[in-house]
Amino acid sequence: MIMDDETRERRAEKLGRHLVYLMAKAVRDYAMIAEGDRVMVCHSGGKDSFALLDLLIRFLRQSREKFHVTAVGLDQNMPDFPKDVLPRFFEKQGIEYRIIHQDIYGAVKRKIPDGKNMCGLCSRLRRGALYRFAEENGMTKIALGHHRDDLVETLFLNMFYGGKMKAMPPKLLTDSGKHVVIRPMAYIAEEDLKRYSTLKQFPVIPGNLCGAAESSQRQTVKSLLASWKKDFPGRVETLFNSMQNIEPSQLADRNLFDFRNLGE
Ligand code: SF4
Repeated sequence: MIMDDETRERRAEKLGRHLVYLMAKAVRDYAMIAEGDRVMVCHSGGKDSFALLDLLIRFLRQSREKFHVTAVGLDQNMPDFPKDVLPRFFEKQGIEYRIIHQDIYGAVKRKIPDGKNMCGLCSRLRRGALYRFAEENGMTKIALGHHRDDLVETLFLNMFYGGKMKAMPPKLLTDSGKHVVIRPMAYIAEEDLKRYSTLKQFPVIPGNLCGAAESSQRQTVKSLLASWKKDFPGRVETLFNSMQNIEPSQLADRNLFDFRNLGE
């Protein structure tokens, strides 16, 4: 559908208001951001990163807590990566930013044989680069662009293939105890982010430049969720709600509930 600029901007503004409301609620519910925090927004160039940065800056303008936002891009030396897109965008918007340059793509290619999945090592190296940057630059929070559907998808991936009920939490203290990772878009549906990204005309960088195919496990879960979204609207939302409403006594984890002493 062709839309004139005025209509597009009006719709973006309206949707943005709703998404900032959801973000503010998640930030408050999980005490994600405190006064004086230095929040590093990890920016991959994807639609979710653009939306996270945009919404977080809007949220900052209306928030009582004043905090500092820095966008941090990672140039991992992927073939055909358009190096100028993020700096140009950040400068045009007047957003403070830094770009980390690290040849993660080369390191992964050297270690992983052709045809094998590169994502595990790549993700570890990326995480390491971002955490190191956060530590060296006094960042107190690391914000990631995962949304509600990512959280539900991860829950099913772990249940189906890992035998564990765990997902990605809205707020996480890393194993080292050094970093607090936050996911301010935990209450936002992917569909809304897609719409927002289109309305805002973000200069999205394609996510498949590395050439890695999505794992078949992830594809399975994604298509399951997609079919539910189509056939049972609201189901993914209900699933997410259930992640916030757990009754350990009605499950079977002996570490979470003392079944042995029940009724003794
Ligand atoms: S899809 Fe590509 S960039 Fe993303 S984790 Fe996998 S190898 Fe790395």
